[in-house]
Amino acid sequence: MTPPTVLSVSPVPSVLDERPELTELHSHVGGAVDAAIMWSIAHQQGIRLPSKDYWDFVDLIGVSRPDKVHSLAEYDAIFRWTELIQSSPLAIERSVYEIIGGAYRKTNITTLELRFNPMKRNREGEQDLDHIISAAIRGQDRALLEYPLVRSGLILMMDRTFSYDLNTIIVEKALRYHGRGVVGVDIAGPPNPDFSYRAHQPLVDRARDAGLGITIHTGEEGHVADMWEVVECLRPDRVGHGILCAYDERLMRHVAEAGIVLEVCPTSNLRTRAVRDLDELRHILTTLRANGIPVTINTDGPQMLATTILKEYRVLLDNGIYSDADVRRAIDVASSASFLNRSCDLP
Ligand SMILES: [Zn+2]
Repeated sequence: MTPPTVLSVSPVPSVLDERPELTELHSHVGGAVDAAIMWSIAHQQGIRLPSKDYWDFVDLIGVSRPDKVHSLAEYDAIFRWTELIQSSPLAIERSVYEIIGGAYRKTNITTLELRFNPMKRNREGEQDLDHIISAAIRGQDRALLEYPLVRSGLILMMDRTFSYDLNTIIVEKALRYHGRGVVGVDIAGPPNPDFSYRAHQPLVDRARDAGLGITIHTGEEGHVADMWEVVECLRPDRVGHGILCAYDERLMRHVAEAGIVLEVCPTSNLRTRAVRDLDELRHILTTLRANGIPVTINTDGPQMLATTILKEYRVLLDNGIYSDADVRRAIDVASSASFLNRSCDLP
């Protein structure tokens, strides 16, 4: 049998060829550590894994195949493994340390924001939360000593499946460590019909008043009403995903007027089926651009999604979804929307 012809397509010339300094605003610690390092951390801690073979493990914690997950809920389930492995001060310190250095070495990311939920890494209270957060900060500090051209900040995530009281503790920790490496708060986690963004307004207000950045996961899938509630009640600086607003003109006007920046994660949205295909992605990004919405491009977690920030831009460029000027603009928007730009009074 004759092998299929492989077409060699020369990539579109772009600013990406000039090794630009890049910014990643939306990356989960649970999805960003290389599989080999996660394997090492799991063994260092004696965690019982479902397979003793490394390649099974790579498959377990990755979404490299398009048919691996069929929904956001299935995607979220993979995080249970990575969160378990990262659930100790030692593990979270090494995770954060490795992500920052790796991002700089592989893709020249010089501004990086990493998000995680510390309460999903303390083995349900068995480990002290302050130790987990301090260890993450220590990992960040060590990486920044090695790579002084990089700046990095941590975002602590509340969760849609947590009670208000648990989420209060997370915001209080973010306030305590603000100025020591924590730069913002987020709300994420599996979709929960009983969760109310509106009810969390006092918590988000406290974080904002203290100078923390506010980014909220919404408008990824589900109902656009959730995104309305987020932008009206929580008034975030940025929204994680937010692609659903491309189907609501009034919401787009509101988002544009409020200057809310969207953190779009193309590969993630395609893998979780939040976006059907490249044509829908093209429609969404073209609509957002036409309506003046500031958009940044992100990975959501490069290891888990077998991508990099460079690949995300490349996909848009090579498929004619973004021009080189659009790529340059997205790089600039990301750099200026980083919470690291804020001056912060040390406690
Ligand atoms: Zn996310």
